[in-house]
Amino acid sequence: MAVKQASLPLFAAFFAAALVGCRSTPEYDHVLTNARVAQFDGDAISFVNLHLALRDGRIAELIPASEALPLASDTTDLTGTFVYPGLVDAHAHFMALGQALETVDLVGTRSWAECVERVRQYLADHPEVAVVRGRGWDQNDWTLGEWPSSVELDALSQKAIVLSRIDGHAVVCNQIALKQSGITAATRIEGGEIITAAGKPTGVLVDNAETLLRIAEPSREEKIRYLQAAERWCIELGLTSVHDAGLPTGDIMLIDSLQRAGGLRMPLYVMVSESPEALDHWLQRGPLETDWLSVRSFKFYSDGALGSRGALLRAPYRDRHDHFGLALRDQTYLRTAAARIAKAGWQMNTHAIGDSANHLVLSIYREALGAKTAKPDLRWRVEHAQVVSPEDRKEFGGSLGIVPSVQPTHATSDMDWAPVRLGADRMPHAYAYRSLREANGGWIPLGTDFPIEHPNPMYTILAATARRALDGHPLGGFQTEEALTLDQTILGMTRDAARSSFREGQAGEIRLGNWADFTIFDTNLSEIEPMNLPKTQALQVWIHGERRK
Ligand SMILES: [Zn+2]
Repeated sequence: MAVKQASLPLFAAFFAAALVGCRSTPEYDHVLTNARVAQFDGDAISFVNLHLALRDGRIAELIPASEALPLASDTTDLTGTFVYPGLVDAHAHFMALGQALETVDLVGTRSWAECVERVRQYLADHPEVAVVRGRGWDQNDWTLGEWPSSVELDALSQKAIVLSRIDGHAVVCNQIALKQSGITAATRIEGGEIITAAGKPTGVLVDNAETLLRIAEPSREEKIRYLQAAERWCIELGLTSVHDAGLPTGDIMLIDSLQRAGGLRMPLYVMVSESPEALDHWLQRGPLETDWLSVRSFKFYSDGALGSRGALLRAPYRDRHDHFGLALRDQTYLRTAAARIAKAGWQMNTHAIGDSANHLVLSIYREALGAKTAKPDLRWRVEHAQVVSPEDRKEFGGSLGIVPSVQPTHATSDMDWAPVRLGADRMPHAYAYRSLREANGGWIPLGTDFPIEHPNPMYTILAATARRALDGHPLGGFQTEEALTLDQTILGMTRDAARSSFREGQAGEIRLGNWADFTIFDTNLSEIEPMNLPKTQALQVWIHGERRK
């Protein structure tokens, strides 16, 4: 008895030590319990009751809900909520989103006079700014539909004022800004227009003419503020990653250094804004890949936008009979660049809105990707693919794997005036997301092009599935034969977005080994009435295994 009594404390001590040992080295960093986890099967999404075990930011195990919980440093009970793979915006302007928060907001103005009034108010509220930047005007929303002019801005201030159109493809600035930049009525630029009246520039610069502006760039501190503000807003809306559709090398290196220092924790797929120098630099340097940043693609522009009549069309504009739009880059330049990029194994992503621009880009892609020296599986993207002739549509997908990358809210933003530009006969070729998806073999990456559109991914779901604007019009939806299903839309913002950035096996699906990036809702999105989608909010957002919302 005496021996047994003596041994009990020993056993107890042994078990206690074993337990402490387990607790100090749990198998997982985090376990999310009672999750309804979205699983993809072809085009369909179903939910499976699971516990998600995370380690080192990744999904380490998917455990059936009936099984015992493993040991983890931390446990979160998700109480049966719906876990989707983290939502991605496959075409956006991340830094510009943060910058947009610090500019005069001209979205929704009903007249040029209202724009001028907002600038006047901004100047009064922000006496410290050296350059007044604004964005979001759209003369299509104004009663008169007229181009704005510098006259009213000249009366406001001696500071440079630059106001971007909603699509970024035109600006109106004051005469001070023109003078600082040396722009006169005699200035000419290929792929751009300096609008004049009575022999004087009106202040409106279209497409490439914007590049002539020489006004102060935002400082490094301002840019960091923009990036961090964009990150906060994106996470609040449920986004876990963004494809930035074009930044110069300096801004990319700023993002990389900020991410390495922990000052920015949003995974980004950044396209390099093309220039002869940028191509030389990056093709020699090679891709940049970290856990937070992937740089292996270039962004080109082939034409402008439909709203400012810069989109390059095969037949003239219905509302300007002598005008076909603007080619922003020389064809030979694009062809030479494409051949180089294909050989180097980089991705080429080109903005193409008009049917002529899409035709041209597809033919350049075909030639470059079909060359013997081209690397395989480069997934070159046509950004927007907005007006595509039916015979050109079949050039997507197939053995060359050219990918259409579209933004469903463009359809509902443009639907009221696009027929005026295109005419009814060309409308079936426009915003044809379902046809493009089919041509591409059943997948299509989706984005918003924010800050041109609102960054909220719920607006994308509404526009893609119901083809209705935020105010609900039109009741029956716009060209609904081109609508996507809800599941196709979610796939476009997760799996397909990942695939279009070579991130399958890393993100886009809730699978063993992928990053633990989740957007969690308290409802199955398929049970939400379309017009209730815009007010639906993500409950939790996880990025690389860490809860961020
Ligand atoms: Zn864009």
